[in-house]
Amino acid sequence: MKNFSQLVEGYGRFRSTDWQQQRDRWATLAEGQSPKVMVIACSDSRVDPAQIFDVDPGEIFVVRNVAAMVPPYETTPGHHGVSAAVEFAVQFLKVSEVVIMGHGMCGGCQAALTQDLHGNDPGAGGFVADWVGMLDEAREPVARELGTTGREAELAMELAAVKASLANLRSFPFVKDREDKGELVLRGAHFAISDGILRLLDEDSGEFSPAD
Ligand SMILES: [Zn+2]
Repeated sequence: MKNFSQLVEGYGRFRSTDWQQQRDRWATLAEGQSPKVMVIACSDSRVDPAQIFDVDPGEIFVVRNVAAMVPPYETTPGHHGVSAAVEFAVQFLKVSEVVIMGHGMCGGCQAALTQDLHGNDPGAGGFVADWVGMLDEAREPVARELGTTGREAELAMELAAVKASLANLRSFPFVKDREDKGELVLRGAHFAISDGILRLLDEDSGEFSPAD
């Protein structure tokens, strides 16, 4: 795995090749962005949306966090980073689609399922525990039916997390409003790292099926 000095060497290659070849594109992007799609993905190093969807700079507006989650609409004091990004994408950039992309072998979802970090202090897993605690309700049926360990339970938790975030996304009045008007489409997806397959959620059936 590369350290940051090696990443800077990569920057040098980018600057001398890709950037040079796409100078016109970067010049246009310097004037502003107008992506059509927002993607909410996990911070996990293996699931970079720009790579998975093979898109160029300027094409997707991305938020990544532990377990690819959207918190519920809350106006309590605090620093609501995901909410700020959703607000900016939906209300200012006017994206027409928001995709929540969970993934296989998600450590955040595993922590939600096992609750192993529950009760830990900040700095010792407490921040993660609090964050994935948003999945407690979604976790219940999974833990009851499949237990809290093993790949089957973990996958069920990952898929349930996508659905929970979709529900939370709809708790934002401006998201619900734009969806009701037909101006915004919300989508759920799951990327399986081991086989590289992207599955899309059919919200009518609740099932995830491989994308074409
Ligand atoms: Zn993850």
